[in-house]
Amino acid sequence: ESLNQSVSELKKINVSFEFFPPTTESMENTLWDSIERLQTLKPSFVSVTYGANSGTRDRTHNVIKSIQERTGLVAAPHLTCIDANEQELRQIAKDYWNSGVKNIVALRGDLPSGSSKPNMYASDLVELLKQEADFDISVAAYPEVHSEAKSAQADLQALKRKMDAGANRAITQFFFDVESYLRFRDRCAAIGIESEIVPGILPVSNYNTLLKFANFANVKVPNWLHQQFQGLDNDQNTRNLVGASIAMDMVKVLSREGVKDFHFYTLNRSELSYAICHTLGVRP
Ligand code: FAD
Repeated sequence: ESLNQSVSELKKINVSFEFFPPTTESMENTLWDSIERLQTLKPSFVSVTYGANSGTRDRTHNVIKSIQERTGLVAAPHLTCIDANEQELRQIAKDYWNSGVKNIVALRGDLPSGSSKPNMYASDLVELLKQEADFDISVAAYPEVHSEAKSAQADLQALKRKMDAGANRAITQFFFDVESYLRFRDRCAAIGIESEIVPGILPVSNYNTLLKFANFANVKVPNWLHQQFQGLDNDQNTRNLVGASIAMDMVKVLSREGVKDFHFYTLNRSELSYAICHTLGVRP
């Protein structure tokens, strides 16, 4: 393949970065250092998580507000519906829209322990948001199937409902098996989902933390990944290099397979995401 061709293809790549609200002053400094570095890559948007480990909605909104004030970035709050009633959600939607927040990552949120039937699904939230205003909406997708889904097909139909309700794109749960993403993307196309299925890339710098996330999120950690991080428990530098290299390999294959949009779970750090973007041709 010609170098010129691959360089011009590289130009079309869009990236987005996900952050979580910091809880301490030093975490806050880390977050802002990361935002400042990553904003030079002109992401199409950045998002800020809410709930679960991310605390109250105010915390999310405050970070969103600061990003809007301090940078020119499009900032999308994550919004979950499982912990609010319809009236509250409509008010939140109005408040967001009126304060210039027009992009939302719409989620159901995790069931509180003990409860089994949610009051709402994410597709209901997408519908509600679209009734309030013409938000740009991202929703979640699961190449390795959501833990509560009756079947892979039922999960796919749930995603289709979210897209039909007006979502603009789906962002996947992180994964390490690129084939599982590619198969999933094919299955999405086969049931008529035309929007982008944006791969969520988690650059791994702490393998033990990853294991906790993966266990919680029902994501397979392949044996080869385990082997790559073996013996590095006390060697952060090498872990970063290995983690970046793994993600670089993944995005290279994905990009060759025609993926043009990438979402990075930054964990509020910039180094790995920045380097991976660089190899994709996404540069200041
Ligand atoms: P849904 O799309 O509603 O799906 C939930 C489950 O219900 C699935 O198993 C689905 O198959 C099933 N289902 C859907 N519709 C129906 C129906 N009509 N009948 C029966 N079953 C149905 N969590 C947070 O708390 N805060 C965050 O900031 C956050 N950010 C995230 C970002 C991304 C990109 C991703 C991938 C996940 C995020 N999560 C977050 C986690 C998410 O909230 C959980 O995975 C949650 O359990 C499911 O949310 P969902 O939006 O995918 O739900």
